[in-house]
Amino acid sequence: MNLQLSASESAFQQEVRHFFECDYPQYILEKVHRGDRLSREDHCVSQAALQSKQWLGIGWPKAHGGPGWTENQRYIFESELERIGAPNIIPMAVIYVGPIIVEFGTPEQQQRWLPDILSSTSMWAQGYSEPESGSDLASLGLRADRNGDDYILNGNKVWTTLGHWADWIFCLVRTSKGERKQEGISFVCVDMRSAGITIHPIITMNGAWELNRISFDNVRVPIINRIGEEGRGWHYANVLLSTERLSYAHIGKKKADLRKLRILAGDAPSDNYASLMDEPLFAAKLAALEIEVAVLEVWVLRALDGELAQAAVSSLKIKCTECAQTITELFMLLSGRSAMAFPDINLADWQGVLLSTPSYGVMSADSYLFERSQTIYGGTSEIQRNIIWKSLIR
Ligand SMILES: Cc1cc2nc3c(=O)[nH]c(=O)nc-3n(C[C@H](O)[C@H](O)[C@H](O)COP(=O)(O)OP(=O)(O)OC[C@H]3O[C@@H](n4cnc5c(N)ncnc54)[C@H](O)[C@@H]3O)c2cc1C
Repeated sequence: MNLQLSASESAFQQEVRHFFECDYPQYILEKVHRGDRLSREDHCVSQAALQSKQWLGIGWPKAHGGPGWTENQRYIFESELERIGAPNIIPMAVIYVGPIIVEFGTPEQQQRWLPDILSSTSMWAQGYSEPESGSDLASLGLRADRNGDDYILNGNKVWTTLGHWADWIFCLVRTSKGERKQEGISFVCVDMRSAGITIHPIITMNGAWELNRISFDNVRVPIINRIGEEGRGWHYANVLLSTERLSYAHIGKKKADLRKLRILAGDAPSDNYASLMDEPLFAAKLAALEIEVAVLEVWVLRALDGELAQAAVSSLKIKCTECAQTITELFMLLSGRSAMAFPDINLADWQGVLLSTPSYGVMSADSYLFERSQTIYGGTSEIQRNIIWKSLIR
């Protein structure tokens, strides 16, 4: 595998960098750097800016409005986006369900849903997990009973990221009971405005409202909203999960965070040294992380090249997410007492707190708390270890 960029890849990198520095909405970058939480509107503006270059539908073929990039181009684009600190594309529509509709949807479904995803006029949520079915997803029980041309849905989905912003939710539902629990699952797209849907907010320990439980009480969904064949939902879900697992690498963000840590620690006070960066323990931890990220980058590129088996991708999920958590621990060390200023989301003077402390203090606590979830979503670390172990004892 060649780690050097080719001449055309270098030119592409410069083009992407120039776009983010000059043509991308700068107020969004400012908000991110200040530690403000972005609104739905901010994300739509950000995604519309990317789409103005036809850069939103990453992973989509050109024929459906994607950029038709190679894996390397996609990696360069994502690295540049994270380098400057632009928000990641909200994955549920563009990265998760979009490619599934492209591959398995009917021409009518493609026409109905894909243009709105690319114009960011519709947002989607992912309805996989249920209160009793997370790691053991195939045991899911949200029922979809046939009634004329419709399914009638009853049950719950949980941990639904940004379900309260979503216009649509793609759900795994049980249309029948098979001999194996993976059988009898179907993949349906549900209009979030349907009667019988209720959104129950879940506030996470960083005080944010990102997650939800969504209950379905006799929700009528046209059968034409099913993707692919009835009972084959598990197959489509797995196609999706295989793309989801690598999307947690975020090497560009890790590199940007480490650069920022090095600069900020150089200015941060220390009791016994000229700066925090001169404290041997802190400097050693930072150096170890820099080495780890350099190694992880090579492995991620190898995975993108298709060189790695599933078990190796699982070990990458563990290492990349644990590394992200360790980086947040270093930000907490850097922030010291200013991390304590992390306010409750309901605090009236949230903006005031942001202004009166170094922004990285507030952001450090926010990330430290939220990033605990990285080793849970997309398949917990224990489940990844099971995959690795099974591959070894075969
Ligand atoms: C921030 C966040 C966002 C999320 N967003 C979404 C979303 O948008 N849509 C969606 O559908 N889901 C979402 N999820 C849900 C996520 O996929 C599940 O939380 C995850 O699959 C784990 O399931 P669970 O929470 O039910 O835990 P459980 O499966 O109940 O696991 C509990 C504990 O037991 C361990 N465990 C379970 N089974 C085994 C086993 N066989 N061997 C060893 N250990 C085991 C787990 O590792 C874990 O530590 C999100 C989760 C989080 C935290």
